[in-house]
This record gives sequence, structure tokens and C-alpha cells, in this order.
Amino acid sequence: TQPLSDVDPEIAQAIADELGRQRGTLEMIASENFVPRAVLEAQGSVLTNKYAEGYPGRRYYGGCEFVDVAENLAIERAKELFGAEHANVQPHAGAQANVAVMSAFLKPGDKLMGLSLDHGGHLTHGMKLNHSGKFHEIAAYEVDPQTGLIDMEKVREQALAERPDMIVAGWSAYPRQLDFAKFREIADEVGAVLWVDMAHFAGLVAAGLHPNPVPHADVVTTTVHKTLAGPRSGMILTKAEHAKKINSAVFPGQQGGPLMHAIAAKAIAFRIAGSEDFREKQQRTVQGAQLLAERLLSEDVTEHGVSVLSGGTDVHLVLVDLRNSELDGKQAEDRLHEVGITVNRNAVPNDPRPPMVTSGLRIGTPALASRGFGETEFREVADIIAEALKPQADLESLKSRVATLAADFPLYDGLEEW
Ligand code: PLP
Repeated sequence: TQPLSDVDPEIAQAIADELGRQRGTLEMIASENFVPRAVLEAQGSVLTNKYAEGYPGRRYYGGCEFVDVAENLAIERAKELFGAEHANVQPHAGAQANVAVMSAFLKPGDKLMGLSLDHGGHLTHGMKLNHSGKFHEIAAYEVDPQTGLIDMEKVREQALAERPDMIVAGWSAYPRQLDFAKFREIADEVGAVLWVDMAHFAGLVAAGLHPNPVPHADVVTTTVHKTLAGPRSGMILTKAEHAKKINSAVFPGQQGGPLMHAIAAKAIAFRIAGSEDFREKQQRTVQGAQLLAERLLSEDVTEHGVSVLSGGTDVHLVLVDLRNSELDGKQAEDRLHEVGITVNRNAVPNDPRPPMVTSGLRIGTPALASRGFGETEFREVADIIAEALKPQADLESLKSRVATLAADFPLYDGLEEW
């Protein structure tokens, strides 16, 4: 019954400092978000104490009647939200969901075709040091160097030449929507399984602002903590015919006991994601990214060598191209950090600078939209970023503009008393 501050003052301090950081800065890492209070409550609940290996109604431990309620709610809500026949809500994170999918559908040595990491793919889609790349033969597709877009005709030609066993459509850094129907056609033509990893854009799908991959794909994975704004975790959606195979690939295939506090928090996030408020927030998210892209493409910014990959965005992020700027990705990230905006540097396709430096930035709007930012605030954020990327920027004055925005939109107000 002792409070954290007594039991472990050092950790208590780290948490307090992190709360201060989140409140005082503008979080624009595209894969991050601020979860609602209800999600924090579930994650800090007594459900963390419960072992529940197995699935609802078929557990290997006693006393699972209440965690079964939570998991069933998570499953039913996920199915309804995305129109899926089956949901497995147990993966601890996105990477675990992806390993389960590969182990369910592929044998070691089978060929996986995914978007190259350097071109915006995720490391679980075939990077050589990752499970996906270690255990499978990899055929990576890329974006077109001129347009920055995935050219579906080239994907088709490559698939016909490579004959992959599985094709994965999905990304961590790509500013446009994918053509799932075309991916389906190609997968059918070469006899491959189609897997969509919608980790980044799942919130947009839930809000009806992005095509839903579920009707097209054999299997869909997602994280729950990005645009979906739920707890850090993963999920798998699939057709009923694959349900058994997927469930057994998650447990006992590669996980033990599910994290019931996280699963309850997923159920909450799915409930919220079906609401009108959530839809409106996703609209502000996309609008904010579009305003940023537009501002960065104004002449007063582009004359300093700044550009935006693919010429804009349809989603929650903007990929800034600094190949012609005197600032590299690292310097730009550091500058924004200095004014109080958190982003991550990101390699652009065929990046001339080394991976630890890069020539790009990935900037996302989900967390700020959760904080309540709308058109006015996103215009101000876009202008601050535009100014910060000019070589002679007055970083001190930009810093105070950031501080004003942060102060105007309190985050987790009164959390200390909750
Ligand atoms: N898939 C995609 C497309 C991602 O962007 C990410 C995370 O960045 C993951 C999977 C992995 O998720 P996690 O970090 O929860 O393992």
C-alpha cells in the first residue's frame, strides 16, 4: 500500500519528469499518441496480476472469469470496428503480431516480399537482422525514385519474377494510401498470401478516412498505440478459416500468458475508436499533416532546399526531404528538439547521407490532435517548423511560440490527483 514515491523515488521522479516533458513539448513522432485516461487506468489495474494462458473459455488457469469478459469485449469490438471475421488481441506488441503471422503462414526459407526498410517499410517486413529476414528469403520492393510512390505495376512485375509466398503491404514511413485491391490481385496472380500491416494508419481506417484492408487481405496486423491511441500492443485480424492457425501461432506458438491489463485497455481503445469524437480527431490529424506539408512546400521554405516526399500527404505524417538542404536529418531533428518539438530523423529513399544522419524527417500529427489541436494550432505548428528549418532561424522566439501552444492545451490535467 506504499505509494511509488516512497517505494522507489528514482522511478517516481523519472515518471514525473516524463510527464513534464510530454506536457511542455509538442510530440510529433508519427508512431506516438496520448492515450485517454481510461486506458491509463486499465493498464495500471489489478488485471496485471492475472495469468490467463489460453483463450476465453479455454484457459490453462483458474479464476479467469473476469479477464474473459475483458478479452471477449476486446475481440468483439475489434471485429466490429474493422469488419473482421476473427480477431486475436493477445500480441504483446506489433512485432509479436507480425512474427505470429509469419509463423502461421510461412515455413523457414519461404519468400516474403515487403517494402524495403530504406523506403518506408518496417523492420519486421524483411530486414536482415530481424526474425523476418533471418528466417525467410526476402524480395523487397521500393518506391519510385521520381514520384516517391509505390508503383503497383512494378510490384506486379517483381512479384511475377520473384514468386513470393507472402506479400506484405504496410509501412512505417509512407505518406500515401495503399491500393489493397491491386495488392490482392497481384497476390492471387502469383499464389501468395496477402498480409497487410496497418499499424500506422489503423486509426484512420477505424474512422473511415483510409481504405480498409480487411476485406482484401488474408491477414491484417496492427499496433494499437499509434493512430488508434490505445495501449502499447498488437492485434491480428483474419478470416474465420485462418482463426485456429493464427491463435495457435500466438499462443502457444510464441507467447505465454497474455497481458490482461493491456487487453482490457485495447477493448477501451476500440470502443472509443468507434465514436464520432474519434472520427473528428482523425480528421484533424490528417488535416494537420496536410497543412504542414503545404507550409513546407511554400517558396520561402523550399528555397532553402526543403521539400516533402510525394509532394504532400493523405495520412497522419509528412516526410520531409532535406537532400538539398544544408541541414541534414540529425541537425534538423536537433533544431526542432531545441525549440520543443519532438520528431525523428528518417532516411529518404536512396539517401546520400549515412543512416545515423539521414536526409529526412518524419513528422506526425496524431498526438497533437489527441491534445486537441485543430486548424489554427496546426497552422502555427507548421509555421514554427517551417521557420526552424531555415538556416538563420531565431530558435529562441520559436521556442516561446511552442511553449505558448503547449500551455494552451494542458495534457493529463490534474493527473497527480487521479
Ligand atoms: N509494424 C509497423 C508498420 C510499425 O510501424 C511498427 C512500429 O513502429 C511495428 C509493426 C512494430 O510495433 P511494435 O513497436 O509495437 O513492436
